[in-house]
Amino acid sequence: MTSPEIQTRSPASAPPARLPESRDPATGEVWQRYPVADAAAVQAAVARARAAQPAWAAVPAQVRADVIRLFAQKLLARRDEAARIIARENGKPIGEALGVDVGVTLGLADYFVVAAPRFLRARWRRSRMLAAWRKRVTLVHEPYGVVGVISPWNYPMFLPLSSALPALLCGNAVVNKPSEWTPGIAELVKECLHQAGVPADVYQVVHGAGATGAALCESADKIFFTGSEATGRKVAMACAQRLIPCALELGGSDPAIVLADADLAHAASGIAWGRFSNAGQTCVAAKRVFVEESVYDEFLERLTAAVRQLKVGPGTDEATDVGPMIRPEQRAIIAAQHADAMARGAREALRLDAPSGDCYFPPTILTDCPFDSRPMTEETFGPLLPVTKVRDVDEAIARANDTTQGLSASVWTGDVTRGIAVAQRLQAGSVLINDACTSAGLCDVPHGGAKASGLGKVHGELGLQECVRTKAIAADWFQGWRQPWWFGYGASHREQIGAFLVAAHGASLMSRLRALPSVLRLVVAPSRKI
Ligand code: NAD
Repeated sequence: MTSPEIQTRSPASAPPARLPESRDPATGEVWQRYPVADAAAVQAAVARARAAQPAWAAVPAQVRADVIRLFAQKLLARRDEAARIIARENGKPIGEALGVDVGVTLGLADYFVVAAPRFLRARWRRSRMLAAWRKRVTLVHEPYGVVGVISPWNYPMFLPLSSALPALLCGNAVVNKPSEWTPGIAELVKECLHQAGVPADVYQVVHGAGATGAALCESADKIFFTGSEATGRKVAMACAQRLIPCALELGGSDPAIVLADADLAHAASGIAWGRFSNAGQTCVAAKRVFVEESVYDEFLERLTAAVRQLKVGPGTDEATDVGPMIRPEQRAIIAAQHADAMARGAREALRLDAPSGDCYFPPTILTDCPFDSRPMTEETFGPLLPVTKVRDVDEAIARANDTTQGLSASVWTGDVTRGIAVAQRLQAGSVLINDACTSAGLCDVPHGGAKASGLGKVHGELGLQECVRTKAIAADWFQGWRQPWWFGYGASHREQIGAFLVAAHGASLMSRLRALPSVLRLVVAPSRKI
């Protein structure tokens, strides 16, 4: 990619939608634009990555880990600059960008620089099958080659790096297609990686919208996609056409269940943050709240009190709690979902004031939201929260599971053991007890959705497993000894095979021992010379 051209324009002369540009959602100012990588540019980037990848894979794993450790130090040194770019592209408060985006990224680096070299070490063991007792089995984890990472705008640093860092550590080259709405932070990450020692062709960034992402699906060896369910389906189909693997981290309509024994003040403040941080634009945000009827009124009162204190404003203002949404078109979706609920009889328990501006949607709590209304049947990706009274825990679980998606969930209770029992009945990739959203930032714990919320995992050892092809090498150390199942068929062979089956799988110890002499004749016989 060529360097970005620096431009500042007024919102009145906005370019056509979906060009890669840094636009401040609070003001509409476009403060930087980037050239689009067309299909040929993407192919060229992948070709460069493919040529550079073998040398990177040949670098010892510990040296690659040292490079990523240095990357983390470079990022730490530029943390304020990074947080400011995120605030000016995404709209979230600077402190939130620092704590969540930069914080989780550093946690990822810390975890993977230790875990990856350990994971990649080849291990051997004996086969546990009696028939293969002579085999020594070695598992080797090999990189895919060029990994394409297609990422969204809501956490534009740690989401792509959740896949890119382990992929690099496992010896892959990475081509990142960041969201067209957050290109600037992708450039900063690229600079830090290159300065730390990742070769330029081993980590590249291609800018553009859907067509650029689609071109990457046409040429990479594996795709890590994070984004909406609709786009995820397109990516899955493109990868299926080429028979290449993909991991999909998609949307969610996550339930929060508040049980009668919960600490209601804690639940209210956690759910307020879990829904309204990042202006509600979090994949694992609490998007539907179900409260046991005996504590419903008190919980609602505490929740509205917690949300009423929030200050809505530009992300660059240190005092802001909730920033603008990222683009007018995202705001329009949440406004339509809100209007649908109101038209069907929902009521507003709270609607905060928000500054004027085309991206602000006032944080809103709804009650009596019908189950067939859009906020209850679709992912709401903005500061809108329906709160619903339920009879008991069974109804809460049934309502919570009544969605096609299953990304994450939370249970709020004074009894953690009971919370875990409820969690086991929820159809979700992860469940938090007495916390919100954190599941997506636990670097050593697998993250990934159930149902239509995705395929595969990031984070933890399962996240490393997604970055490699595992090759099994089974070595026979007894050369010159034929395998029992090789040619040499006949009546005595059949008898010995039958005895072997009894020895391996027979129910009684005596019958297994009686079969042993025949088995020994079978398994220690030298190779038949042909
Ligand atoms: P999106 O699907 O619109 O875009 C995601 C990325 O895909 C962008 O980079 C986009 O340019 C690219 N893209 C668009 N069309 C493409 C195509 N045909 N082929 C390849 N790439 C294409 O999603 P978004 O609006 O950027 O992100 C919000 C969504 O992401 C929400 O649904 C949210 O829940 C989800 N999300 C999920 C997770 C998770 O961990 N499961 C995390 C963050 C966000």
